[in-house]
Amino acid sequence: MEEQKTEGQRLAETLTFEIKSCWETIEENDREAISEFAEQYKKFIDKGKTEREFNAECLSILKEKGFIDIETALLEGRRLKAGDKVYQNNRGKSLVFAVIGNVSMKEGVNIVGAHIDSPRIDLKTNPLYEDGGFAIFDTHYYGGIKHYQWTTIPLAMHGVMFNKNGEKQTVRIGEGEGDPVFVITDLLPHLAQDQMQKKANEFVRGEELDVIAGSEPFKDEKAQEKVKLAILNLLNQKYGVTEENFASAEIEFVPAHKARDVGLDRGLIGAYGHDDRCCAYTAFRAILECCGKNEGDTPEKPAGAKTAVCLLTDKEEIGSMGNTGAQSRLFENFIAYLCSQTIENYSDIDLRLALNRSAMLSADVNAAYDPNFGDVFDKKTASYCGKGLALSKYTGVRGKVGGSDANAEFLQKAQAILDKHDVRWQFGDLGKVDKGGGGTIAQHAANLGVDVLDCGIPVLSMHSPFEVISKIDLWTAYRGYTAFLKEA
Ligand code: MN
Ligand code: MN
Repeated sequence: MEEQKTEGQRLAETLTFEIKSCWETIEENDREAISEFAEQYKKFIDKGKTEREFNAECLSILKEKGFIDIETALLEGRRLKAGDKVYQNNRGKSLVFAVIGNVSMKEGVNIVGAHIDSPRIDLKTNPLYEDGGFAIFDTHYYGGIKHYQWTTIPLAMHGVMFNKNGEKQTVRIGEGEGDPVFVITDLLPHLAQDQMQKKANEFVRGEELDVIAGSEPFKDEKAQEKVKLAILNLLNQKYGVTEENFASAEIEFVPAHKARDVGLDRGLIGAYGHDDRCCAYTAFRAILECCGKNEGDTPEKPAGAKTAVCLLTDKEEIGSMGNTGAQSRLFENFIAYLCSQTIENYSDIDLRLALNRSAMLSADVNAAYDPNFGDVFDKKTASYCGKGLALSKYTGVRGKVGGSDANAEFLQKAQAILDKHDVRWQFGDLGKVDKGGGGTIAQHAANLGVDVLDCGIPVLSMHSPFEVISKIDLWTAYRGYTAFLKEA
């Protein structure tokens, strides 16, 4: 027989709030779905290791599912109706797409936004030089990295270059089975006495992150810089490019490893670029849930549902500036396009109404509690791997400066939707007060009048070459974003 609970125990049950591991509360038959979803994600991010590649992967599936280019619809003056599916591909680097809902755009739209750029090592504009018998690529890192983490690991070369004829060449070396990889060297411990005394941010300096491109000289007595010449020759044979073409190229070095299960129980995924492609992927999959099964179907949403939008932006890791970043007009213009093609006698006021009545989840990764570095976290408000979608009411640094703060009313509404669908959520404050902080794309949409809540998947070793997330958080985010798109 069960022991009688004391009054204190009963009170504690009703009044206090405890967040359990999602693994403890899932239905047994969900396990297969969680693991299947993780496998699909792993394959997807192995293909989409840069913003361009991730964009292209999404786009090909959207087209398969019957999404049409909004710019074509606009130019042809095609009207849009409930159930129509549209996208705007912004320069191959950011992407916004939507399923038109059953109610007017004037009621606002539901959005999940994430970013698809990740920290990495970019080539400089005139990168190739020779030293010590090596041809070397000079680089400039992208985003907030700990420099030393990017040395002595296999790197792959991704990006685009234009050749002499102005033809775009796609570069992807280091991902195939037999491909060579690239590497940034580090000093041997035997000669590192001085280096070891340095602070971590000077340990390996930004200018020292150069990548070995090759080592075999071109066989010619009279030629100069023969190793460099041999590498230029190989690139010319493969892509038709010359040294001059580096000036316009966009080449990124990213970790060459694939996404892998982590831990004996396979509960975690280690990979490059979880920030923020785990949120981008779950947001993308959530939009697909809003599509009907066949072309021409209305969305599988309760009557009265709003238009569901997914925004995938570039340049978040360097401040979201520029025409592919979240500070651009991409999102605002897209909403204007949708309004103009769905509302009779469209005026600018319709757009203003739509923006001000819209609701958004800004989906970005959160710093998961790390037992190795427990002292920078406030355990009460930190997010944990395996405990679900992390909600960050506010972001910002030292007194919330520069952050985005969700209104209580909106947070309550979002929580209620998640609770209704049994989507487990947890807190997501970034570290102890004054230990640091951060922010993401939320404020840029919020500045347009949109209600925005930061929320996402907890990640270990953020911005490192091998970030780690929990499979169950990935799945929970997908279910949470889907519920929000359908019901906010
Ligand atoms: Mn991020
Ligand atoms: Mn980041």
